[in-house]
Amino acid sequence: MTERFTGNFTQQEPIPQEGIDAALAVLQHGRLHRYNTAPGELSETALLEQEVAALTGATYALAVASGGYALGCALRAVGVKPGDRVLTNAFTLAPVPGAIASVGAVPVFVGVTEGLVIDLDDLEAKADQADVLMLSHMRGHICDMDGLMAICDAHGVRVIEDCAHTMGASWNGVPSGRHGVIGCYSTQTYKHVNSGEGGFLVTDDEEIAARAVILSGSYMLYERHLAAPAREVFERVKYDTPNVSGRMDNLRAAILRPQLRALDRQVKRWNDRYRMVEAGLRGTPGLTVIERDARETPVGSSIQFLLLDWAPSRVQAVLERCAARGVELKWFGGAEPTGFTSRYDSWRYAPSEPLPASDRILAGLLDMRLPLTFSLEDCALIARIIRTEVGAVFQGAA
Ligand SMILES: *Cc1c(COP(=O)(O)O)cnc(C)c1O
Repeated sequence: MTERFTGNFTQQEPIPQEGIDAALAVLQHGRLHRYNTAPGELSETALLEQEVAALTGATYALAVASGGYALGCALRAVGVKPGDRVLTNAFTLAPVPGAIASVGAVPVFVGVTEGLVIDLDDLEAKADQADVLMLSHMRGHICDMDGLMAICDAHGVRVIEDCAHTMGASWNGVPSGRHGVIGCYSTQTYKHVNSGEGGFLVTDDEEIAARAVILSGSYMLYERHLAAPAREVFERVKYDTPNVSGRMDNLRAAILRPQLRALDRQVKRWNDRYRMVEAGLRGTPGLTVIERDARETPVGSSIQFLLLDWAPSRVQAVLERCAARGVELKWFGGAEPTGFTSRYDSWRYAPSEPLPASDRILAGLLDMRLPLTFSLEDCALIARIIRTEVGAVFQGAA
């Protein structure tokens, strides 16, 4: 009998009851706008920011409309101007070069290693081309952050971390998002906490924090924030910081607060699922498992593997055979952007130099989501299906 997987790769868990109750309370009182508070009331959004700061150990936190908004806001807050160059990963998703383009800046792509992290040698070689690195911890793979920060500090490059896939993860005990000057997170449905849309940014820099708050659309109501700097800091920046409206609202904040409290437990559940699939794939001929650094504490909300140096037609055959058995793999080497998946050279607004070593990795890179609605048995079954189909194509049966 041929085993088939019938689960749904895009089905989330429900919002926790506590979040539903808190959302209903917001709907009943009607004060959804974050600055619409009753006398003495602290808004759900302000409380959420305080909790995000506590969770990450940051001095300041700001909740915004999306992860992509957080990235653009971060670039503006550190002073990136039209025409500036910004270093970023070649292995990334569209909102990252998109955020750079949104401020009129130009991405300079840095290569990816077989471990799916930014290539530090390539970064070192390009570090003099820009003052800012927008570092994407793409698919949750965290590079040697101590090595990366040493390079960036030596070249005066400030680091903005895109932690859309590493909320709840850490490197050497330091939470992801806390190495650079700003950490950005997404609370979009497919990330680690779910408010449909939303994002955060965290920083210890008071002036960057004040700029980000005003940029996000605080008007002169910034004193209603609980995780923002003192009034004097706002006084210094308020006349020359534009309002680029992108606030979070109290409904989303209400949904998110209980999810933040549950994050550690969810991370453990994701990692159990990741290890189950990883164990099932290990040792498959022709397939390279991505080895994780012992200093990395990841969040296994998706898994990647490589079919290195396979002909595109054979990678395509694996995709089709797995899909026929209910297993949805994404391919980062596809010639055209499809769904959420794209390549650095897909973007005609952002000219790129060829990166042959990275192209080789991306050409063999397959990716799969691991939603928490999958059981451990589901994960074992998925791994068996991939193993069989990769094996069949590898041995020339296809
Ligand atoms: C989802 C995502 C973003 C953007 O987040 P949104 O909340 O969807 O705007 C940025 N970077 C990466 C790597 C992402 O996966």
